Amino acid sequence: MKIKAQISMVMNLDKCIGCHTCSIACKNVWTNRQGAEYMYFNNVETKPGTGYPKHWENQAKWKGGWELKDGKLQLRSGSKSERLLKLFYHPEQPEMDDYYEPWTYDYESLLSSKRKKHQPVARPRSLITQKRMEIKWGPNWEDDLADGESVRQDINLKNMAGEITMEFHDLFMKYLPRVCNHCLNPACVAACPSGAIYKREEDGVVLVSQDGCRGWRHCIPACPYKKVYFNWKTNKAEKCIFCFPRLENGLPTICTDTCVGRLRYMGVLLYDMDKVKEAASEPEAGNIYHSVLDILLDPHDPAVIEAARKEGIPANWLEAAQHSPVYRLIKEWKIALPLHAEYRTLPMVWYVPPLSPITRRMEADVYLPEVHDMRIPLAYLAELFGAGNTGVVAQSLQKLLDMRLVMRCQETGEEIPQRLAEDVVVYKD
Ligand code: SF4
Ligand code: SF4
Repeated sequence: MKIKAQISMVMNLDKCIGCHTCSIACKNVWTNRQGAEYMYFNNVETKPGTGYPKHWENQAKWKGGWELKDGKLQLRSGSKSERLLKLFYHPEQPEMDDYYEPWTYDYESLLSSKRKKHQPVARPRSLITQKRMEIKWGPNWEDDLADGESVRQDINLKNMAGEITMEFHDLFMKYLPRVCNHCLNPACVAACPSGAIYKREEDGVVLVSQDGCRGWRHCIPACPYKKVYFNWKTNKAEKCIFCFPRLENGLPTICTDTCVGRLRYMGVLLYDMDKVKEAASEPEAGNIYHSVLDILLDPHDPAVIEAARKEGIPANWLEAAQHSPVYRLIKEWKIALPLHAEYRTLPMVWYVPPLSPITRRMEADVYLPEVHDMRIPLAYLAELFGAGNTGVVAQSLQKLLDMRLVMRCQETGEEIPQRLAEDVVVYKD
């Protein structure tokens, strides 16, 4: 067993209100400069929706010449000349239109405009070309200007057209905050011909060496989550750095620190490095979640503690792992799930899936819906968080529902149902 430590994050999607405080805090700290205008190391997507960049979940679109081989993403095999050719052309990747052309407004015109019948309007101006522009699309377009087409184009919903029939009263919307997942099997690292992207030994943070990057851009199509960006000014790749200078000073990432919904939990996980390849190569996509749980180690187990010490994992990291809310949410309670585990990069940012709105049914006086009868279709959530395995998501949602029921009983003095009473544990730390 080769034990490693990994900084990880869990986001509770029930609490995200899509305010973008996290995105703006991150932008101001890390990408507030020329060449990086369009980049959001942290973005918050409207779901269902086309995402940012558009259709990033459509892996066929960004094929990019990569394949999974022996648990690792590698350049597709072929003749030597074919492989050389692939090194010299940029595999298919998103263009500016797939992100959006960032803009500002000519506020000056509000002040200089002549007196007219109508109020003056500040016209949009491109932050890249500095010219006037017509805004045609932007992140979260579906929120308030969607024509329905962008929602219909959501790749997951399209794939499930037969399974999900949506009536007007069934419509739903939710938010999905996304950062780089600092994967255990990072495709961006595997793809970089210069070896400029690396996974830090001490905490698993994935970084791009700005000195080492030669601008090949293979990392961009290789990352199935499209979380590497190209700086058009410096010609280097950039990505979320998990705020490592803050982590090194005992602070959480800026998105976690500023989150209005307090929905981000950070912590340390311990995992068995020797089993990473095996987990990534799990033949059944729907089982990858279980394979990843297998490689996460119990930080309270004396054998794990002993082995971690031998590996040189510092005592304060071990303590952090033992008190980690992330470990509890992921492995102990099994309510946090990985986003698109089927991409096989073993992402280390996990999500507590959202419960649909709690409704009261007149006829039965029922406050809590059934897992299989929620407004957000289970099949849709399973595409996002269960690699198609509805059982994995249903298990998580059922626990969330049970938790609500217990809390309601505790508040109202009603008796906690017998099947749950034995499991109620009060955590104090
Ligand atoms: Fe690399 Fe993408 Fe994974 Fe981040 S999410 S570590 S950029 S493969
Ligand atoms: Fe969601 Fe928190 Fe970001 Fe607001 S700050 S959009 S609540 S993740």
